[in-house]
Amino acid sequence: MDRRKFLGTVGLAAAAGASFPTLVSCDTNEDIKESYQADLLVVGGGPAGACAAVAAAREGAKVLLVDNGNCLGGMGTKGLVGPFMTCYDAAGENMIIRGLFEEIVDRLIAEGGAIHPSKIRQGTEFTAWINEGHDHCTPFDAEILKKVYDRICAEAGVKVLFHANFVRPIMKGRKIQGAVLLTPSGLEAARAKMVIDATGDGTVAFRAGAPCVFGDPESGRVQPASLFFRINNVDTDRLIADVVPHLPEFRRVNGVSYRCLHWRVAEAEAAGEWDLARKSVNIWRSVEKDQWVINCTRIHGVDSTDCENLTAAEIEGRRQVEELMNFFHKYVPGCEKATLMGTGSTMGIRESRHVHGDFVLPVQDLIDGVIPDDNILLSANSIDVHGAMGGPAGGLYMPIKKNMYGVPYRSLVPRDVEGLLLAGRCISAASPAAGAIRVMPPAMAIGQAAGIAAALCLSSGASPATLDYADLKPLLLKQKVYLG
Ligand SMILES: Cc1cc2nc3c(=O)[nH]c(=O)nc-3n(C[C@H](O)[C@H](O)[C@H](O)COP(=O)(O)OP(=O)(O)OC[C@H]3O[C@@H](n4cnc5c(N)ncnc54)[C@H](O)[C@@H]3O)c2cc1C
Repeated sequence: MDRRKFLGTVGLAAAAGASFPTLVSCDTNEDIKESYQADLLVVGGGPAGACAAVAAAREGAKVLLVDNGNCLGGMGTKGLVGPFMTCYDAAGENMIIRGLFEEIVDRLIAEGGAIHPSKIRQGTEFTAWINEGHDHCTPFDAEILKKVYDRICAEAGVKVLFHANFVRPIMKGRKIQGAVLLTPSGLEAARAKMVIDATGDGTVAFRAGAPCVFGDPESGRVQPASLFFRINNVDTDRLIADVVPHLPEFRRVNGVSYRCLHWRVAEAEAAGEWDLARKSVNIWRSVEKDQWVINCTRIHGVDSTDCENLTAAEIEGRRQVEELMNFFHKYVPGCEKATLMGTGSTMGIRESRHVHGDFVLPVQDLIDGVIPDDNILLSANSIDVHGAMGGPAGGLYMPIKKNMYGVPYRSLVPRDVEGLLLAGRCISAASPAAGAIRVMPPAMAIGQAAGIAAALCLSSGASPATLDYADLKPLLLKQKVYLG
């Protein structure tokens, strides 16, 4: 027990017969407790960070995984984002993202919390009837996913801390040696031999001095943010009956999608009851028949690294959800009695900082289907850059030319900081390339590779920059990563 924390604790409560003490605050900015020692500190418990932690622990590392929320899963749980985007090749024939992703999907299915991607085809209600690049998505239940992450981490021996905010790195020259965290206990130091930045925003790498760019420097834009929400009590058969006759009218004009419910949006717009940036509604059927996931709010120019800006976006997101619920109740057959199950407990951030390494993954490599020599995963998720063309709804959607592409290990290694690896959305990739590999299945595979690489650095004495891919590949394969 922290002595100073309880200085001033007096016996009044006990004297009154109650068992709780009276506390006084004593934490100050200078008061940093030496609380944790680990081989590997993973900051951020989203799909990338959780998989990194499990993968490293399975290779024998003592891992501390910290997240500022109350669960693992990041956008997939706190953000209510779903389904998992495709894990298949572009032809829709083979599942090419396997490893921990597949294990998590199988566990979800065993608990009734997902539908296997082999059963989900694009152009159906499970893909918001989108019929390009969305074959074999995986609908899942966010609450069951939280439990699966808890268990898989516990079984691997990962120590998890929730409500633990990364404040700043602990540096010795250019070498990162841990982090200062703000937890409910105050400021606490977590020392580690290696660190993985899985914050999405690249906050650890940025604060440690790695070069970063914000959004797409060429366009000066960042992908718009969206607050996800889930509804239930939907008469799914009536909703489907309203959509299916309109499928031949689905189209994209100047980057603007006129897809699901665009005819209902037009009605609401004509009545002056629609002021959202989209012209259609991405509404995805979930595991339970009456539950749907809505990806339709859109807020441009959100800087998730700016507290005031992010706060304003959260408030605007909830305003848009209210407008959408009114729209569902008034205009959408089958949704008259829909209930708002909840909004994401965080705004959905598609893009913010991209941390740079010596190698920055170019989008052309993905389009051309390059499989690099130091490949860590295969993916076929298409390049989907929301808001790329500016204006209210214009997006850039680029199908890939080959059946799949790879992601090089080099893109996990930041410049100018030693002892640090990147995982997930913030890896060293050009903005449009990140638009393809930021989705959850590749993020999980990137995390798994980062965790294995970190464990290998720890056991071999190599640094992330000098790690030999010939040593990494067998461990990736041992952990059932599919490399073709
Ligand atoms: C609107 C939207 C729609 C999307 N749609 C889909 C989809 O349909 N399918 C799909 O597969 N993917 C989708 N994605 C992409 C996907 O959800 C994310 O890109 C993916 O979750 C990235 O994983 P990550 O682990 O890098 O980051 P995140 O999932 O963002 O996880 C990062 C974690 O780090 C924590 N963290 C951040 N900073 C700190 C700090 N300072 N201290 C402690 N913890 C911190 C965060 O709280 C979070 O838990 C969507 C994303 C958005 C925003």
